[in-house]
Amino acid sequence: ELILAFESSCDETSVAVIEDGNKILSNVVATQVKSHKRFGGVVPEVASRHHIEQVTLCLADAMEEAKVTYNDLSAVAVTYGPGLVGALLVGVASAKVVAYAHNLPLIPVNHMAGHIYAARFKSEIKFPAIALLVSGGHTELVYMARENSYQIIGETRDDAAGEAYDKIGRVLGLKYPAGKNIDEMAHEGADTFAFPRAMMKEENFDFSFSGLKSAFINTVHHAEQVNEKLNVNDLAASFQQSVVDVLVYKTERALNDFSVKQLILAGGVAANQGLRDGLDELIGKYSGIELLKAPLNLCGDNAAMIGAAGFVAWKNGESADLSLNADPSLEFEWI
Ligand code: ATP
Ligand code: MG
Ligand code: FE
Repeated sequence: ELILAFESSCDETSVAVIEDGNKILSNVVATQVKSHKRFGGVVPEVASRHHIEQVTLCLADAMEEAKVTYNDLSAVAVTYGPGLVGALLVGVASAKVVAYAHNLPLIPVNHMAGHIYAARFKSEIKFPAIALLVSGGHTELVYMARENSYQIIGETRDDAAGEAYDKIGRVLGLKYPAGKNIDEMAHEGADTFAFPRAMMKEENFDFSFSGLKSAFINTVHHAEQVNEKLNVNDLAASFQQSVVDVLVYKTERALNDFSVKQLILAGGVAANQGLRDGLDELIGKYSGIELLKAPLNLCGDNAAMIGAAGFVAWKNGESADLSLNADPSLEFEWI
């Protein structure tokens, strides 16, 4: 079964062809980061304009690379939220056109379910599972009792982890998005600044990163005022250790409270080496739980993951008619 998938929720335009929900025939990604760099973040209006320019080119490339025709397809999957409304609409409209023209079912996909299903390209997902979803806009722990069921058990009260990385990157004068850069710097430094670890004592699975961000910014500004030169690699290492400690600690709490077969790590920040190492170490304490990390090249936004999640949604009877609209603040519905 072949699924054609579209992703355009933020600053990547992507089209993929996926076979049986787990094989990538093509996954074309056109990134716009260069256009957004000079603004230090994604400019929605600019993003929409890029998507409209790129989407048909990505579609043609994805079909050609996969060596398939429209007659070979079983369904069309598309991200309809969460994300930037003007960006989402480009993917949604494109998917509708293909579905209508070729009389194919249209499968609406939640972008965050897509991130989780990036892990499907590593190996099969076994339920019940818990996913630690860390990205530019979200940081949450999701319990999946069974296939196609998503329950948020904890989430950030303020900034997402990726957002915190990007904001402190700005303070250090790094280019957007700064996560990967800070991750690399962190490996050259040591945790010497003792930044706060938020909400460690609270009996829940929630996170908070704004206090850490403020502590980081205050430290840098204070040093500037007194003309003190700080070691930026140590700053990066200290920030990263605080983020990783909190993410690992809350994940450990979740693994102790929920009986699961797998822990899934996904989302853009899942590419973080410190976090991958931290979870490897954590999972070593649990003999019955497998750690399934999204492949490094599929942690960021891409349509392959939307095709994998779309395949599962489709097998579970989900589809939309041509009135499907973008939902910028789409949330998981617990079913
Ligand atoms: P969402 O998925 O919540 O809608 P998004 O799609 O914008 O948000 P992603 O593309 O999933 O976010 O992830 C991008 C984020 O991942 C950016 O904030 C980026 O800095 C961060 N990131 C990427 N690589 C790393 C890394 N190695 N370490 C830390 N953060 C990283
Ligand atoms: Mg992006
Ligand atoms: Fe994303």
